[in-house]
Amino acid sequence: MTERLTTRCCIAGGGPAGMMLGFLLARAGVDVVVLEKHADFFRDFRGDTIHPSTLEIMYELGVLDDFLKRPHQELSVLKGKIGDDDVTLADFSHLPTHCKFIAFMPQWDFLDFLVEKAKRYPGFHLKMQAEVTDLLIENDVVVGVKAKTPQGELAIRADLVVGADGRHSIVRDLAGLEREDYGAPMDVLWLRLSKRPSDAAQALGRIQAGRLLVMLDRGDYWQCAYVIPKGGFEDLQRRGLQSDRRYTEAYIQSRAGRGFGPRRIINELRQRGVAEDLIDAGMETCEVDWQGLLATVRHKKYGVARPGSYPAIMKQSAFLKYRGFTNDQIRKYFRQDSDDGQ
Ligand SMILES: Cc1cc2nc3c(=O)[nH]c(=O)nc-3n(C[C@H](O)[C@H](O)[C@H](O)COP(=O)(O)OP(=O)(O)OC[C@H]3O[C@@H](n4cnc5c(N)ncnc54)[C@H](O)[C@@H]3O)c2cc1C
Repeated sequence: MTERLTTRCCIAGGGPAGMMLGFLLARAGVDVVVLEKHADFFRDFRGDTIHPSTLEIMYELGVLDDFLKRPHQELSVLKGKIGDDDVTLADFSHLPTHCKFIAFMPQWDFLDFLVEKAKRYPGFHLKMQAEVTDLLIENDVVVGVKAKTPQGELAIRADLVVGADGRHSIVRDLAGLEREDYGAPMDVLWLRLSKRPSDAAQALGRIQAGRLLVMLDRGDYWQCAYVIPKGGFEDLQRRGLQSDRRYTEAYIQSRAGRGFGPRRIINELRQRGVAEDLIDAGMETCEVDWQGLLATVRHKKYGVARPGSYPAIMKQSAFLKYRGFTNDQIRKYFRQDSDDGQ
């Protein structure tokens, strides 16, 4: 049997848009029914950054203090690395808002909070596991929706129907509304990395050679976003997205770029569990001029002049050894009559 309801506004979809609208309407004294097809709000990696502008709205609605009592992390400065340079990507501390930070909170907590606040108003009704399947149309006018629930069909008549049912909105399609495509040029791969005590303490954006990785500190893990060209996922899969080989190559290049020698890099890769054959192949194909790198590293640390005494050579050799250069490379360097012109 079909259950029938009547309301002023029926909102299809209990995401941030639908739930916030439901809250605002109920707060304004409007009777509203929000239909959400899922049984809960659990969505992994969704909308976890809550921006100062959103927090300001929470302030204006008088719920900010309560909101900030919910477990969250705050970030006022977003640091990043472009190549090997540390840069400040964003500093929220000067914003003319009450919260001069981004808050990190899972979207399901955010939605739970909105529901809690909205339920204080008698006109707010939320139906979970209610999936809108059709529109009620009379004389070319949308007068309500049909939904399926575990208890059977539901028909809701409403003065206003709002489609807040996300990017694959059925309400939009059924109403024949045209979609405007803004043509986002990128896709984002989300992944979770375990966090170690020795890791940097802050969120980080890392930009290098056309690649962008954002790491968000979620307490006991890193939530990572890796930006790829729009539609580029299949290509990445073809090229071996999670390839240890690619990781090894990138690691060698990155560490060599920071002035570390092959012995140290090999040890580090072993500590990270990379297989010996991959390490060998990576070292063979990496095209790093180790001898040239050694000269540059020594030059940077001790200047152009060659060491004038045996103890000075021993001291510099110890340093180069610590940086990961081999005994052969170090001996070869100091045996040369000149310092390769450096
Ligand atoms: C991986 C990822 C990370 C993101 N990170 C951030 C971030 O850090 N910060 C940020 O501000 N934004 C972020 N966003 C964007 C943010 O999640 C969206 O902008 C926001 O969720 C859009 O809200 P919405 O309510 O319009 O749609 P949605 O969140 O998609 O909500 C639509 C709701 O409608 C329900 N629904 C769908 N069809 C029906 C139906 N037929 N009947 C009933 N219910 C239905 C769905 O179950 C869903 O709950 C992220 C998005 C993704 C995908």
